[in-house]
Amino acid sequence: MTSDIETSLRETLTEQYKYAEQIGLNELSSGNLSCRFEDGMLISPSGASAETIAPENIVRVSLDGEWEGDRKPSSEWRMHAAVYQAQESAEAVVHTHSDYCVALACQLLPLPGFHYLVGSFGGNDVPCVPYSTFGTQTLGDDAANALKTRTACLLGNHGMICRGKNLKSAVNLAHRLEIMCRQYLLTRQLGEPDLLTDEQWAEFFDRAKKVSYGRYI
Ligand code: 13P
Ligand code: ZN
Repeated sequence: MTSDIETSLRETLTEQYKYAEQIGLNELSSGNLSCRFEDGMLISPSGASAETIAPENIVRVSLDGEWEGDRKPSSEWRMHAAVYQAQESAEAVVHTHSDYCVALACQLLPLPGFHYLVGSFGGNDVPCVPYSTFGTQTLGDDAANALKTRTACLLGNHGMICRGKNLKSAVNLAHRLEIMCRQYLLTRQLGEPDLLTDEQWAEFFDRAKKVSYGRYI
């Protein structure tokens, strides 16, 4: 029996998967979305696409990979599970291969603190973890470790992952990171941008807290 909460999460996950595709974040089955559910998670099926995803083919998986049904969970279920295990406050996880995140990740470059909105991810940069084969525990552990002190990281030669307090805010964060990587690459065309100083970062986080800017950290 599916509870009302599960039904509603399956619907939201489907909507947000489609929205992420619509804004160009996960073209042709690249990327996956999940949300925490009971002691496990609900995750998009492997090979999902905006045309085929539906509430009934979202897969319920335990954090150690047990699942039932005829659709296989995303091949990245280990990475999603590792984030939920490492970070109690994570309620949703989004992984994409969006263009500008991939552009930076393929140079193994972190996104530096060139703009104050880099602070939206909880610190003065967005790190890039080393390349590991998709679906592996090493990739999951590296990502989960980076997501302890940030809400997003780049995945070397692969893409990005982020965590949020719900599916909508996690997809918005993935969108935000794509915008910031695009703007960083644009400014790099004109030379190395100036980075905010430690003092400017301290003032930013202080101010963000004072005005309760919900979207910061
Ligand atoms: P899935 O289709 O299995 O979710 O995998 C896509 C992907 O992004 C692998 O890294
Ligand atoms: Zn991927």
